[in-house]
Amino acid sequence: MSSARPHDCVPVPAHHPLYVLYTSGTTGTPKGVVRGTAGYAVMLNWTMSSIYGLSPGEVWWAASDLGWVVGHSYICYGPLLHGNTTVLYEGKPVGTPDPGAFFRVMSEHGTAAVFTAPTAIRAIRQQDQHAAYGKQYTLDRLRTLFVAGERCDIETLQWAKKSFGVPVLDHWWQTESGSAITASCVGLGNSLSPPAGTAGKPVPGYNVTVIDDEMQPVKPGLLGNIVVKLPLPPGAALSLWQNDELFKQTYYTKFPGYYDTMDAGYVDEEGFVYIMSRSDDVINVAGHRLSTGALEECILQHPGVVDCAVVGLEDSLKGHVPLALCVLQNDFEKNKSTVLKELVGLVRDNIGPVAAFRKVLFVRVLPKTRSGKIPRSSLACLVNAKPYKISPTIEDPGVFKTIEKVVREHVKGPGS
Ligand code: AMP
Repeated sequence: MSSARPHDCVPVPAHHPLYVLYTSGTTGTPKGVVRGTAGYAVMLNWTMSSIYGLSPGEVWWAASDLGWVVGHSYICYGPLLHGNTTVLYEGKPVGTPDPGAFFRVMSEHGTAAVFTAPTAIRAIRQQDQHAAYGKQYTLDRLRTLFVAGERCDIETLQWAKKSFGVPVLDHWWQTESGSAITASCVGLGNSLSPPAGTAGKPVPGYNVTVIDDEMQPVKPGLLGNIVVKLPLPPGAALSLWQNDELFKQTYYTKFPGYYDTMDAGYVDEEGFVYIMSRSDDVINVAGHRLSTGALEECILQHPGVVDCAVVGLEDSLKGHVPLALCVLQNDFEKNKSTVLKELVGLVRDNIGPVAAFRKVLFVRVLPKTRSGKIPRSSLACLVNAKPYKISPTIEDPGVFKTIEKVVREHVKGPGS
């Protein structure tokens, strides 16, 4: 460092690889996504105003790990290209030192818009139900809070709206896309109060559609494979590091002519997109395809439950039945068997008896990647007593052992 001297900018071709970023690996082995240079710069610069509604000079905060795609795109490149001040925060939403940390950073720096993951909001809510710590700070410059990284259930969304006092907009993207695929584009005049549970509409450049396994379009409201008609817009992945073949095979073979997002969800009559789960995590209960997102959504309506993961438990009769791993509010005092009955009722009322939902395990914490994703496929193997992989991106691998113990004590073999 001490002997380094400034260097002029180096011109590179448009497709020059800017970086290789390994995806979180919640589905199988991490893949090295190769990003290009020029298209990415153009896309990110455009999104700062079109999606996030920012003008140059305003302060922006992407509360992400710098090493993830959100950190690359929106702590570093996007705001700097667009002339925004970018906040870098080293800390957590809670415990550094208290659940008011996010509010403090927003207040002290006068952020106009913030981007975080639903898991951060759940962590704050778990420790500070009424956002008492946060209320000490004024957020008079804050206009919008964006969330992404996993499905944001409606309870969490509403809580965030109330606590931060601004519209909270869910948007959906992947390491592969480098920026949002669907969003409520604030700068393009989209509604600041889209229907609950949606991740917005396709961002210009993305032709999103939902098809079944035979590549037939799925009717509005019905669960299917979310795909993007080719070509993809600027900024999307160029390839997988040193493996063009795997790139083609992974994303472009199953549905020729489309990019396979490997997410499942639906589009409503008005064109809003709802991302319900990874396609691999869809549970087949006696022939009914149920998304983990829809089940988790019901369960999280319960006032005592702050976090939840639903996975398929093998069942000799139905193939699979859903099993919910739930984390309760810190100071929640109700009897667990009462909570179980209430949860079963919620799922029966909202989804129906077809869900055959009866099994809940209460755990202290769920395993998560450092970007806040729950490794449902590993958890599914764990609950079914199969060998499972712990991705290197899991924040605290020890959590699997504690869940194994709870499973051993409470889950018997298939059909029980
Ligand atoms: P990653 O590449 O690690 O950022 O993970 C991308 C995956 O995270 C997506 O394919 C989705 O499964 C999930 N995801 C990201 N944003 C959302 C969102 N807003 N709603 C639902 N799932 C999301």
